[in-house]
Amino acid sequence: MIDRLAEFVAAHPDLFVLTGAGLSTASGIGDYRGEDGAWKRRPPVELRDFLNSDRARRRYWSRSMVGWPQFAAALPNAGHRALAALQRAGRVAATVTQNVDGLHQKAGHADVIELHGRLADVRCLDCGDRFGRATVQSWLEAANPGFVSRTGALLADGDAELGNAALDGFAVPPCPTCGAVLKPDVVFFGESVPRRVVDAALSGLERASAVLIVGSSVMVYSSFRFCRAAHAHRKPIVAINRGVTRADSLLDFKVDGDCAATLDALALCFAR
Ligand SMILES: [Zn+2]
Repeated sequence: MIDRLAEFVAAHPDLFVLTGAGLSTASGIGDYRGEDGAWKRRPPVELRDFLNSDRARRRYWSRSMVGWPQFAAALPNAGHRALAALQRAGRVAATVTQNVDGLHQKAGHADVIELHGRLADVRCLDCGDRFGRATVQSWLEAANPGFVSRTGALLADGDAELGNAALDGFAVPPCPTCGAVLKPDVVFFGESVPRRVVDAALSGLERASAVLIVGSSVMVYSSFRFCRAAHAHRKPIVAINRGVTRADSLLDFKVDGDCAATLDALALCFAR
């Protein structure tokens, strides 16, 4: 299967690479969906709930506070490094990721289009001031010393899986500039990807002659749309993903295996 994948990459030295949570699992960040494409756990917070419910914000920020140290310390894996090497070798026209963990950049990958934003940035929903997530973490910990020692299983958007107990005692720090609600600068479920980001990704797809999906079931439309567009323009699509993808009927072929190991083997074929 690696040979077939290497042939595909060799034939298309201008790939549109689309990555998802499956690429970062080897870095210790959990993904959301199982091999059947269904949710493994309770789906993540929706924008509407975050905006309308103080309790939803407490739930979000308490989980985020507990999950952040591990999320921030996560390191890129062999898959991230292999994709960065392919880019340096001039074989990547554009890279679009659904991940909010910044691990492509940590691996030295340049010009990554972050479809769903990045968790390291926080924005005030009213005055628009921006803050580093590490700074917000210090505010969260100062306001909630009892939560500092908690740990939970880490999910793809930096949440830890916590019980609902003690949620009522959790204090969410407001924007220090204006007192309004702070939100991580990521696209929540129920929220649209900013137009300029979609346009940048579509223009990357125009420059590419083929699509390589890595570690994504492309279940959300914000990423599936690129598969549809590629298919409409007769650009071949290949996926490296464990289990089903929404684009299965559009694929040339799929490598149903581990992203990091597969990409590592692929990169060896193009090392120079
Ligand atoms: Zn503000």
